Amino acid sequence: MSHPKLKKFRRIVVKVGSSLLIDSAAGEVRASWLAALAADIAKLHHDGKDVLVVSSGSIALGRSRLKLPSGALKLEESQAAAAVGQIELARIWSEVLGAHGIGAGQILVTLQDTEERRRYLNARSTITKLLEWRAVPVINENDTVATNEIRYGDNDRLAARVATMTSADLLVLLSDIDGLYTAPPSANPNAKLIPIVESVTADIEAMAGAAESELSRGGMRTKIEAAKIATSAGTHMLIASGKIEHPLQAIADGGPCTWFLTPANPVTARKRWIAGSLEPKGTLTIDAGAVAALRAGKSLLPAGVIRVDGQFARGDAVVVRGPDTHEIGRGLVAYDAENADLIKGRSSSDAAQILGISGRAEMIHRDDLVVGGPRGTDSAK
Ligand code: GLU
Repeated sequence: MSHPKLKKFRRIVVKVGSSLLIDSAAGEVRASWLAALAADIAKLHHDGKDVLVVSSGSIALGRSRLKLPSGALKLEESQAAAAVGQIELARIWSEVLGAHGIGAGQILVTLQDTEERRRYLNARSTITKLLEWRAVPVINENDTVATNEIRYGDNDRLAARVATMTSADLLVLLSDIDGLYTAPPSANPNAKLIPIVESVTADIEAMAGAAESELSRGGMRTKIEAAKIATSAGTHMLIASGKIEHPLQAIADGGPCTWFLTPANPVTARKRWIAGSLEPKGTLTIDAGAVAALRAGKSLLPAGVIRVDGQFARGDAVVVRGPDTHEIGRGLVAYDAENADLIKGRSSSDAAQILGISGRAEMIHRDDLVVGGPRGTDSAK
């Protein structure tokens, strides 16, 4: 089986680990390496792709700026070190991307931001807006407020969640190793790079072992966890070495790496999840014009809604019914029940005025909508 080409993807999340970004001996950012990576990102960006960066390095950079002794940091120490390092990290990304005429937007997320539906929608709409404006979101965990119990801790899994949340079709983990090997290559000279993983089996997990490097929290194990998150939501993932200059160009040129392939595409996978696993909290009844629009693959606008039932919050799943109460589909609604009721039947600009915000125009965005039978077989692709 072959893997897809880099140029085929439309939205790519690139995760950069601390050990690549920072020279641990000097405690400085590897400036020329980063400039080369920024040139690769700019090339993809100028080819019309959406690029998102998940960058680690706040704790390591803060540690070096504050001249902290080596050794493990207590929670409040790493939180405070991150406060110092994150400012610098954001400045560096803004500079290196700015050199290519690209605006960088800093987004710091916590575990709750990606796992609670309401906050998830907020984070997602900010990221989507940045991409629409052709800026590059630069994302990290909000390490200054994250506590041990409620944090990702590693940016591999965080990057995978960001990728699935933004329906990215590719996640690239740049690492200090060029992919997954059959055994740890440092210990076993016969270890072989696995070019393609079609599904993450127990054997694959066993190969990951527990390797960890000095600076980064994630080893191969968190990368395999990331692969599970990404590929089950329709995002392909690859692990490649970031130790070389122009690592993304190297991937495009067919350099060594491990691909983790997904059988689905992000939107279909997301829709399957909406159709199958959510408990609807309410019902929107829509007019015949809206039924036709939905069947043609469009979003549901407030104007097409004639009745709102149930108690739901923004982001909850609702059932959509036609004028004859026949189920048309299911989706994640962008307004709570009270606001949905206030703006039903109104144009999107009236709706914005009524609510006093220029919010989202759609009642349910088409990516959040499954049109079909009762269990939502997707006919609106
Ligand atoms: N969020 C952490 C930082 O920026 C890094 C986590 C990781 O290394 O994966 O320092």
